[in-house]
Amino acid sequence: MTEKKKYTPTQREQKFLDAVQSPKYHRDIVNGLHPFFEENAPAEMQGFYTTGEIAALRVLKNSDHDVEKRMPVKLTRHYFDIAKNSKPIQHIVKATPEETNDLVGAEDPGYQMDYSPVEGLLHKYEMGLMYVVSTCSAHCRFCYREELIGRKDIERADGTVAKKGLAKIPEIVDYIHSHNEIVANNGGVHPETGREKLREILLSGGDPMVLANSKIAAWLSALAESGIESIRIGTKEMAFFPQRFDDAFLSMLDSFHETYPDVGLRMILHFNHPDEFLVKDDQGNYIVDENGFHQWNPATEKAMKGLVSRGWVSVENQSPIIKKINDNSDALRIMQRDLKRVGAENHYFFCGRDIVAHRTFNVPIETAWKILNDSQKGLSGVETHARLSITHYRGKTEVSAVTSEPIPGLAGSENGVIIFKLLRNAADARHRGKVCIVGRNPDAIWFDGYEDRVLFDEAGLFDYARVKEVQTVSEE
Ligand code: SF4
Repeated sequence: MTEKKKYTPTQREQKFLDAVQSPKYHRDIVNGLHPFFEENAPAEMQGFYTTGEIAALRVLKNSDHDVEKRMPVKLTRHYFDIAKNSKPIQHIVKATPEETNDLVGAEDPGYQMDYSPVEGLLHKYEMGLMYVVSTCSAHCRFCYREELIGRKDIERADGTVAKKGLAKIPEIVDYIHSHNEIVANNGGVHPETGREKLREILLSGGDPMVLANSKIAAWLSALAESGIESIRIGTKEMAFFPQRFDDAFLSMLDSFHETYPDVGLRMILHFNHPDEFLVKDDQGNYIVDENGFHQWNPATEKAMKGLVSRGWVSVENQSPIIKKINDNSDALRIMQRDLKRVGAENHYFFCGRDIVAHRTFNVPIETAWKILNDSQKGLSGVETHARLSITHYRGKTEVSAVTSEPIPGLAGSENGVIIFKLLRNAADARHRGKVCIVGRNPDAIWFDGYEDRVLFDEAGLFDYARVKEVQTVSEE
């Protein structure tokens, strides 16, 4: 039997942890479809599904097309109040029979487990992503971690099959020390991968903000003590339950900053649509104040102010572009503008990943590029920092440009081309910046839609043999 590892906090750490307050929160969550099937959801929420919708979902129960087997249903009261007046927001959390019509997709999108040296940690680039919890306050139907949230069995690189496990402090701290020692002894880069010091960690899951403050604080201080320079918390809680960003949480952050002033803290928010934070009138229009500014939901505004007023916390938003939710350049324009106005950066927009059932949710890659590009027309430079990224298993890849015109002399570019650029190579930092050019396919929702039209691929996103074949034909 392997001995359970222990972690002993330092004195400075213990002092910080002893002062943390962990209040209980009442999110009024409806968990699963069962309360709707049995009509024991709170009365005002019961109408979230029509009788017909419930009947259609009930028929699928326990079959291969059971929507909850794919992705558990969960909803907070705060989010219900927003969703009841917003179709796009309903599409985020409301299960539909259509989502299990076509279950094609990867069980482990992006082959995440290939990058997992320790249970619960993905080590990519100079960064580590950790699964610290396997649920969120509510669940998005398009979730790109449905295999974690749904507790599904995943095959790992060594052929074993198991559910994805969660990170534990002792193992993670040991791994950080040992990786960073190898890097330090090799002149600052890892001898095999060219990666630098593991200096940044993203607490993810699931949503770390469903954990008690004491648990979040334990992660923050253990990571800070192990030499991590910057910690990110990835969360959709600002949308699902903004009341979570209360004084107890903010004062924990303050005291963390006081104890570890050199360690950066980044809150990576996940708003998909401005309906999640702006108030609408009875006609469905956003309410503006006397200065013409959009009025924010008071709870969300308070939470956002709490974060951005702490200048040492950087606040960023990232969101996938998903069918029927935010495949709308007007909505994205308002979102980018209002987030930047209140002090949050627009970090990435993503093309949907190749999750199970991705055809239900994903917008074609070229359409997503056009929507984002259109949304940024007329915005200022600082409002348009976000790029469109698609997560290839090799790493984050920018959809940099889509041309409408052919490139003279380049066979295969008759309908225009797409230029992909590797922003970050997950396994080998040296490949950053390499590009891949493919002929257009307006229907492609994933890389496989371009397999037969690769024109140039120094990034290695496609099969090189195929690239050579295309190049030979164009040279003849
Ligand atoms: S908040 Fe993120 S992890 Fe949670 S259900 Fe939504 S997409 Fe999945």
